[in-house]
Amino acid sequence: AKDAGRGVVRYFSSELQSEQEDRVRLEADLRAALESRQFHLAFQPLVSAKNQKLIGFEALVRWNHPRRGFVPPNVFIPVAEECGLMGPLGEFIIEEACRAAASWPEPITVALNVSPKQIILPNLPNVVSQALARHRLPGNRIELEVTEGVFLDSSSRSLDILGRLRALGVGIALDDFGTGYSSIGYLNKAVFHKLKIDGSFVRDAGTRPGNVAIIKSIVQLAKDFRMSVTAEGVETAEDFERMRELGCDTIQGYLFGKPLSYERANQLVVGLGAR
Ligand code: C2E
Ligand code: CA
Ligand code: CA
Ligand code: CA
Repeated sequence: AKDAGRGVVRYFSSELQSEQEDRVRLEADLRAALESRQFHLAFQPLVSAKNQKLIGFEALVRWNHPRRGFVPPNVFIPVAEECGLMGPLGEFIIEEACRAAASWPEPITVALNVSPKQIILPNLPNVVSQALARHRLPGNRIELEVTEGVFLDSSSRSLDILGRLRALGVGIALDDFGTGYSSIGYLNKAVFHKLKIDGSFVRDAGTRPGNVAIIKSIVQLAKDFRMSVTAEGVETAEDFERMRELGCDTIQGYLFGKPLSYERANQLVVGLGAR
């Protein structure tokens, strides 16, 4: 039994060690990726629920590593945050999102994601206002998406920063609403202009009456606070019809398009002008 016990300990410790090695390698690869520009943005269409017209895009970061291939943002964003790379990576994302938005006509907007740790990095409002100025872009052509995670720590500081971004005219959307720690008291601070309903509520709404109840209350909450509502993860015509009927203003999901390269997104915008 003693032997087995030791064996188990050894097994765990070597697994832990290799996890740490993987982590160190991922960190090194991330650093190198920033230098050699392995990141790019993909753009997922957002359409109006009323007439299904394209109204903008959500920018989603993509990492194509020469050996690893495609690494999902859910995997590398937390690592980038922990090893201090979110500053430079975030600046790249802001710059590329503003460049894309500036290349497209009004009223096409570009939403970009900002992680909770990125919010409280020094200078985020400056980084954003400088990118806007560089591209001669009015603040209202971009939107920042933040999750309820911003209220976990440094919440008063986060609110202050969100307020400064709002003062630039930038829209602030509360992403994945209802999936995190509820903090709806913050809606009183009026920094948010939009709530985004997580795809997990949307996709099972047909089979789970509870999800419909949740979506209904999110929509009502948004109306009462004069915010708009986006439903994410809309994959089927039934999803779309249901979300439209429940009062969502904008729709996003595979039904209207997966995240696209800049070139393909641009073709959609150009097609809009030609209609
Ligand atoms: P998110 O902000 O909630 O983004 C939505 C995710 O759902 C995206 O995954 C998108 O590709 C996916 N999606 C969109 N429509 C559908 C659909 O109809 N069905 C299904 N099954 N999925 C759909 P992605 O790109 O892998 O991003 C995952 C998460 O990683 C994002 O969730 C966001 O939290 C984070 N992320 C992505 N890009 C960035 C970024 O540039 N900065 C930061 N800070 N986080 C990012
Ligand atoms: Ca998002
Ligand atoms: Ca989301
Ligand atoms: Ca999400």
